Amino acid sequence: MKKKREKGIEQLNRMSGLRGFPQGKDNPAFESLVDAMLTAPSLAAMERFVDEWLKENDVCPVPKSIYDAFKPPAPVSEWNTGCQICGGTGWISFTKRVAIPGLKPYDADSAKRCECLINRITAQGGEV
Ligand SMILES: [Zn+2]
Repeated sequence: MKKKREKGIEQLNRMSGLRGFPQGKDNPAFESLVDAMLTAPSLAAMERFVDEWLKENDVCPVPKSIYDAFKPPAPVSEWNTGCQICGGTGWISFTKRVAIPGLKPYDADSAKRCECLINRITAQGGEV
């Protein structure tokens, strides 16, 4: 098997026909792309990235596009921080009117799962 770096260069060269591809031997911009490619979790991931890129784009990726593509998925606790409904906690607080015979009804603080948390659990194969 080829070394990861050589494979990264090989994959990058598949994009050499794209606009903005760093030309010239030892071009530091090309080296930056190679460095970014080396953050891929596997050789197959590199190849897949280039396959997808060639289908979707006519310009060469910048290193950031490559780094972003290979960023590990956010840990579960950070998954839903963008949720507008629960503010990212996964829980929605509400007050529940509790009526027990013989007692004056009162409001109790309660919490229920937000849709985003439910989706997250089921997406991971769990049960809600
Ligand atoms: Zn939510």
